[in-house]
Amino acid sequence: MAGLDGVRLASADVVVASSGNVIADGTVAWQGQTIAAVGPRDKLRDAFPKASETVHSGCAIFPSFVNAHTHVCLSFLEGKAPYDGDFAAWLQRVLQAYLEWTEEDHANSLSSGLRQSIEAGTGAVGDIVNDWSARTAYRGAAIGGTLFLQVTGFNPVVADVWLHNLHQVFDVPGARDELGNVRLGISPHAPYTTNADLYRACFRLAEEHDLLVTTHLAETLEEEQFLRTGTGIYRRMLRERGTWVAKWKPPNATPVEYMEQEGLLSDRGLYAHVNYPHDADLELLAKRGVSVVYCPKSHAFFRHKPHRMDEMIERGIRVALGTDGLSSNDSLAMLDEVKLVRRRFPRLSAETIFDAGTIRGAEALRSTDDYGTLEPGRKASFIIADLKQPPDPARVLEQLLAPESRVTGVVAWGRTIR
Ligand SMILES: [Zn+2]
Repeated sequence: MAGLDGVRLASADVVVASSGNVIADGTVAWQGQTIAAVGPRDKLRDAFPKASETVHSGCAIFPSFVNAHTHVCLSFLEGKAPYDGDFAAWLQRVLQAYLEWTEEDHANSLSSGLRQSIEAGTGAVGDIVNDWSARTAYRGAAIGGTLFLQVTGFNPVVADVWLHNLHQVFDVPGARDELGNVRLGISPHAPYTTNADLYRACFRLAEEHDLLVTTHLAETLEEEQFLRTGTGIYRRMLRERGTWVAKWKPPNATPVEYMEQEGLLSDRGLYAHVNYPHDADLELLAKRGVSVVYCPKSHAFFRHKPHRMDEMIERGIRVALGTDGLSSNDSLAMLDEVKLVRRRFPRLSAETIFDAGTIRGAEALRSTDDYGTLEPGRKASFIIADLKQPPDPARVLEQLLAPESRVTGVVAWGRTIR
């Protein structure tokens, strides 16, 4: 390896390559965008004698985070959509504000959210986009993951329009290749805005083109009320939007059961929130090998009852983490999310929480070739953290999850971002 040109080294008191591989006095070596080696500093300095080295004394290095559920394009909505206990009314406020934006606002909101994400140390995202043109903002950005194109349609007429739009994306030659760093995915929004036919069409398309799918599921108690009886805030919302379907028969099921009945629980699916599952729902989710994405701070914003993340993990369900949009959060920093999980779930190990914010998200997004851990061949995307105490290899993950830790440096695709 000694002959490699342009290799750079970042060294720190502790390098966390993954939760199971913690290196005291460690170094990350990379060339271009890609990690060349991770290991003890003395060994890597010998292996790359000509490499330029940056030493982060008193700090620790960690893999960049994976934000598995976010709406980057909503970043200008920070503080603009208060919540008063009525989720449908909140959703309307978000939609209303969003529709009032100029084209320039849309572009700036997206680029601002993207910049905030990268600067906070997010290496990959599961980002919901409302318009396929959003992909241009990602071109050349040092971030990976999946852009999920959102579709809705409760009324069959509206659903057909969205399905048509979705097909058009697939018909544009090269539209999918154009992305490079991020992949295309599909996001049927939620059971109260998207009918079963449209859901099935989305999953069929995803199957045909080998894409991931994400949806909002069991986010509120009222979602189950709606699916059981066809009443409540979502019926009101659909009526107000003029998209209510009078002859629609509620499936009389929990949101998870409804997905199961329609054949929509899949290991290519990321199910966001799942705030109100029943025990039998958890069994179904485990059986189908799905990924659940818990958004801790957004969950707190809406004052939901405690999440069952710990029980999900015990049952073998993959649980990744996300920030959701700035419409229900005050930051896109995943470090804030894992810290809240630490406070809410004292029984979970620091390793489990750290994994949820990194490798579990990479697995859910099928991006483990590039993200989730620091290993040769993966993207040179990592964070440098000041733990406000000497990094201790035996407790470095606990130190990261403590309130006082700070991200002080970010390297993304080998480029120093901050
Ligand atoms: Zn969402």
